[in-house]
Amino acid sequence: MAYQHRFEDGTACDLPAGKVVCVGRNYVAHIRELDNPIPTEPILFIKPATSLLSFSDPIVIPAYGTNCHHETELAVLVGQTLSGADTGTAEKAIAGYGIALDLTLRDIQQGLKDKGLPWEKAKAFDGACPISPFVRPDQLANPQDTMLKLVVNGTVRQEESTKLMMIGILELIAYMSGYFTLMPGDVVLTGTPAGVSELLSGDQLEIELDGQFKYRVSVA
Ligand code: ZN
Repeated sequence: MAYQHRFEDGTACDLPAGKVVCVGRNYVAHIRELDNPIPTEPILFIKPATSLLSFSDPIVIPAYGTNCHHETELAVLVGQTLSGADTGTAEKAIAGYGIALDLTLRDIQQGLKDKGLPWEKAKAFDGACPISPFVRPDQLANPQDTMLKLVVNGTVRQEESTKLMMIGILELIAYMSGYFTLMPGDVVLTGTPAGVSELLSGDQLEIELDGQFKYRVSVA
């Protein structure tokens, strides 16, 4: 089904589904688990609007994909145009928070990285960004210290607070807006904590934001 942003409270969201601007390597424990160096500045990449997929639709791993990893991330819905913004302006532009999976075909990504090539085939495919409905900013007591949790087939895979981000949410959005204009309806992903692992056909996922917003997603 065509993706459309939604709010958790059921009210309509008239913001268009835009691009998804992401940061790589924003939690130290995740950097270590993949044996990557700690970056000196944020690593940015973009998933297109066609990567967005509602949690109410099943995840489909592309036929060419092997080793499809979940990366559970705090998502931010941008409500106003941001270009060269400071953190104060970034904060006022936030229309909501959600939780998303930055799906990554790890083997394909590694092959491309080894050749010094861009990652899009590994991270930007259709449905590569399953995402929850958004909660209003005032529904999270502290977005910078909220729990992200992913359970797969009854086993906890990822469970971490957003307080462990190396670059905080507002600083990250401001930084991104210095490179790419963020438009109303764009989404920012803030990086994954440790625990990334493979998803397989038939997996049943339970995803929780802040211990209070809970979703079930299946892999086709
Ligand atoms: Zn990610």
